[in-house]
Amino acid sequence: MQTTNSSSKIIHELEKKEHIKIIQKNISRVHAETQETQAIKSLDTNQTAAYEEIKQKLTHSNICLLHGVTASGKTEVYITYMQHILSQGKQVLYIVPEIALTTQIITRLQKVFGNKVGIYHSRLNDNERIEIWNTLRTNDDTTFQIILGVRSSIFLPFSNLGAIIIDEEHETSFKQQDPAPRYNARDTAIVLASFFNAKIILGSATPSLETYFNVLTKKYEMVELFTRYGNFEMPEISIIDLAKAYKRKQMYRHFSKELLTHIYHNLEQNKQIILFQNRRGYSPFIECENCGDVPRCKNCEVSLTYHKSKYELSCHYCGYTISLKKTCNVCKSSNIVAKGFGTEKIEEELQAFFPNHTIARMDLDTTRGKHGFSKLIYAFEQKEIDILIGTQMVTKGLDFENVGLVGILNADNLLNMPDFRAFERGFQLMVQVAGRAGRSEAPGKVYIQTFSPNHPIFQHVLTHNYQSFFNEHILERQTFRYPPFVRLIRILIKHKSKEICSEAADMLVTLINPEKIEQILGPEFPPIERVQNVYAKHILLKISKRISYKETRITIETAIASVVAQKDFSRVVIQCDVDPY
Ligand SMILES: [Zn+2]
Ligand SMILES: [Zn+2]
Repeated sequence: MQTTNSSSKIIHELEKKEHIKIIQKNISRVHAETQETQAIKSLDTNQTAAYEEIKQKLTHSNICLLHGVTASGKTEVYITYMQHILSQGKQVLYIVPEIALTTQIITRLQKVFGNKVGIYHSRLNDNERIEIWNTLRTNDDTTFQIILGVRSSIFLPFSNLGAIIIDEEHETSFKQQDPAPRYNARDTAIVLASFFNAKIILGSATPSLETYFNVLTKKYEMVELFTRYGNFEMPEISIIDLAKAYKRKQMYRHFSKELLTHIYHNLEQNKQIILFQNRRGYSPFIECENCGDVPRCKNCEVSLTYHKSKYELSCHYCGYTISLKKTCNVCKSSNIVAKGFGTEKIEEELQAFFPNHTIARMDLDTTRGKHGFSKLIYAFEQKEIDILIGTQMVTKGLDFENVGLVGILNADNLLNMPDFRAFERGFQLMVQVAGRAGRSEAPGKVYIQTFSPNHPIFQHVLTHNYQSFFNEHILERQTFRYPPFVRLIRILIKHKSKEICSEAADMLVTLINPEKIEQILGPEFPPIERVQNVYAKHILLKISKRISYKETRITIETAIASVVAQKDFSRVVIQCDVDPY
């Protein structure tokens, strides 16, 4: 119709008069245009050695960790292994923790594999998903042989799976917390692979303690790749003491003089910059300086985050949003101040410091929509953006050639989380975000601003020493009985009434015999005790590895059944989260 400039009405008239015949044909929504494929960027000697070692180890075992430092070129090693699997006529699943990553990796995969690569994530529409689903069930030359996807792609109907690559295996986003099914895609992928007797490569520069422990206890194989591709140097990391900087009056808004100076020099040399702040929005709360009132969500026990660009206050848990008022709700004072800082505020401050440079922000607010990520990533690759500010999204495996400096605005809120994994996460995050710097000939620099420069974690970060980090923390896990030495199950008890929630939780605890598991912690209200008008209480069970899954399940299910059988508790919702990482 387009080429003849006609309308469907004309076409149907022509058909009626039998001048033309209409034939229906399926056209793919998800297949890329057939394109010329290229040979893969050749492996350097270290990559070749790593590839050969993986291939050899995976002949006699099924799971291998590729422990390679940031920018060591793990992707090329995966690609070579994928070619090996494809040559056997089998399918490959390549899982990454974040949609943002698929946009960069898909380009690299399509260069080598053309339209044999399919992509699968939550931003596809239903029709696109159905098409992927259907094409996978038949495994022939005309369909996808490689799926690049996020965690949900483990549920696709593979027919002849040969290998699963789990990139950035340490990432928390592999865990689906809510809603059910609550699963960790990495662990589930290992089960999926066993159905097909398929091989697994877990890749990371900062493996999870569990995975590394599995290597040491000979459950998994490991191959190490400790040099960067092209023998480029690891970035040099420096710590900036915020307390000192404030005392010496060397702070400009949230930037130390030192960090600002280095940003300035990098911009002068046309180098790009990535800045990390793990909060989105302008500021996490606003406060009335007169009466101390902080606007809170009406559905959840949290303060509302201020989004300045929209003049809105919104709840990051339930989405409740109100517009910002100029005066305090309680005392009508106009003395309202934004406290703390998020990515939006950092962006505003930088714009004032560097008005002639292009500054962009990558967080949940700027990447909505199907092409939100790819536009930003493309613009940064094309050097249209000088400084990119982002949340966790910028830390995960993105590969940019021209980044000279990476800055972490505040490392303290990474380490102060109430979670036994806080240090593991903090270490991984700092090493990963640092790894975005200097991925070409010129070595990159990393600056970390903190109020606690003597925190022991920085010793491991500064020296890029995973081994020393692991040794220290695995001992703590053993001493205090945390995974991988026990398994954890978190039970959530939920109800609209705080009292009923508490009573049900108290009863449940009395019904579980600690000797049947190992230890019970709680019940306790979590840091945010009410979300969307529902109160929650947590019970954490530590389960000894000596006890079978079946036995554990019976213990817990029996206890829960007795609680909800009570008339008062019939509307209490009880959820179990196994391995609630
Ligand atoms: Zn007030
Ligand atoms: Zn809320």
